[in-house]
Amino acid sequence: MSEHFLICPACSAKNRVPQSRLQQAPLCGKCKAYVITDEPLTLTGAQLDRLLANETLPLVVDFWAPWCGPCLQMAPVFGAAAADVAGLLRLAKLDTEAHQAAASRFGIRSIPTLIAFNQGKEISRQSGALSAGQLRQWLESLSPSGRGTL
Ligand code: ZN
Repeated sequence: MSEHFLICPACSAKNRVPQSRLQQAPLCGKCKAYVITDEPLTLTGAQLDRLLANETLPLVVDFWAPWCGPCLQMAPVFGAAAADVAGLLRLAKLDTEAHQAAASRFGIRSIPTLIAFNQGKEISRQSGALSAGQLRQWLESLSPSGRGTL
């Protein structure tokens, strides 16, 4: 694919980004915010739906809750990974306590659960906290250009 569609995290505008510019910190055409960030996006259920309907980069969502110890333990690992995969994969978090309808729609039975989507469809799911090494290995397996490219 020579170009991608991404939703601006600041204003929700749909941006077209050439493949070659994905890793050059592209700015939103409407509000000039960074379309790709070094940190996981924080999503509501509606925002997740908008990303799934419009974005062409693979998306990995951490379904978590503030009271979940293993979730909090994995948070810094997931946060650091977002910087590593910026421009290759989209990483986001959804608080299942605040957005219970979305959690139930995606069949979240235990947390943390990570779901990977590509072109709006679920392609892989991991339940339970992952170590940094396990997370990296899983993310590499999801990368559109194959293993070892992250
Ligand atoms: Zn914007």
